[in-house]
Amino acid sequence: MIRVEEAQERVLAEVAAGPIEAVPLGAALGRVLRENVAAAYDAPERDNSAMDGYALRAEDVANVPATLRVTGTIAAGHPIDARVEPGTAMRIMTGAYVPDGADTVVQVELTDGGVDSVRIDRALTRGANIRRRGSDMRAGDVVLRAGTRIGPAEVAMLAAMQKSRVDVGRRPTVAIFSTGDELVEFDAPRAAGQIVNTNGPLLEALVRDAGALPRNLGVVRDTREATIAALEAALESDFVLSSGGVSVGAFDFVKDALESLGAETKFWRVAMKPGKPVVLSRLRDRVVFGLPGNPVSCFVSFHLFVAPALRKAMGQETRLLPPSVRARAAAPLRSAGDRRVYVRVRVTVQDGELFAEPLATQGSGALTSMVGANGLAVVEERVTRIEKGEGVGVVMVGAL
Ligand code: AMP
Ligand code: MG
Repeated sequence: MIRVEEAQERVLAEVAAGPIEAVPLGAALGRVLRENVAAAYDAPERDNSAMDGYALRAEDVANVPATLRVTGTIAAGHPIDARVEPGTAMRIMTGAYVPDGADTVVQVELTDGGVDSVRIDRALTRGANIRRRGSDMRAGDVVLRAGTRIGPAEVAMLAAMQKSRVDVGRRPTVAIFSTGDELVEFDAPRAAGQIVNTNGPLLEALVRDAGALPRNLGVVRDTREATIAALEAALESDFVLSSGGVSVGAFDFVKDALESLGAETKFWRVAMKPGKPVVLSRLRDRVVFGLPGNPVSCFVSFHLFVAPALRKAMGQETRLLPPSVRARAAAPLRSAGDRRVYVRVRVTVQDGELFAEPLATQGSGALTSMVGANGLAVVEERVTRIEKGEGVGVVMVGAL
């Protein structure tokens, strides 16, 4: 049995950044940038005004109130070829280029707003309210790095660089199959003793959420032959996820089937609860995850092991593992103490502080212990109880 951190390292060691494709800017959100993007020009390109007001020389308003003659008006996008001479000012709008001769802008609120002449009531430091050329970025500066996940701000930066097409990581394809004779699909009639295949839809949703492309192969019967056939079919995809059949039960064939196909097992038991039986193996340059059948174990092991692998495959270079925060336990957290436990919690913010409320049911088969959970509170091995109010580390698996 290996530690979670060791298992995560082994996962990431098996995965390399996948191929690159160019997509239109409008389709870049949520993808991973795969090129360094450099500024093509200084921004701002020239000194410009940060305010609606008057461009003038600071020394002309050293003694206030001061009245200056107004010689013209400059709007953003309409550069003019005029000079501010001593004792004069020009009206200027936000974003307009500061005319030669002026070294300061006074905002209209500190003046009488005059058109032919203007009275300024307050002295200003030289350079006030001017955005300097290149203060945002300089031509040649790398403004976005390869490996960055593209959010709305990155979309704006790419637009500023007039990138109509962007190099991003291709979305990996992920085959999913669910082993179990007891399983029936959600849209089929359910006989006594059968249970609905929830891991199929769960994994499909998790894969899509992670930015990859799921291919659900459905339910696979608990025989070695059926499991081998499912693995063979799944190998067309970049990654393979199976659920169930990885324990030591008489009908658990995933590990067997993998080995008889010549797969190399990288690990198959991790010191955690839920989710101890989880297989990582490599089969013909594909990475295969044999996830546990218990829905909650499946959910937890996806977040800890599969999601980081998918991020790395798309080319993400930092923040591959889910983020951890410190929170205060909103109720006692319990554990048997024999293994690290990931307690499903709802993390909330109260008065700026994070609180982790354990969900009422914690069984690894209980779907109710998963719905509404946005965090996994970590109760380390040998710790049996964390009291209400004590601090606890929480792995975030959803938004606050
Ligand atoms: P297994 O790891 O195959 O022994 O499965 C462990 C438990 O998870 C059993 O109670 C299964 O019925 C349940 N289970 C397995 N696969 C699924 C699935 N696809 N959807 C929902 N529950 C499942
Ligand atoms: Mg099973």
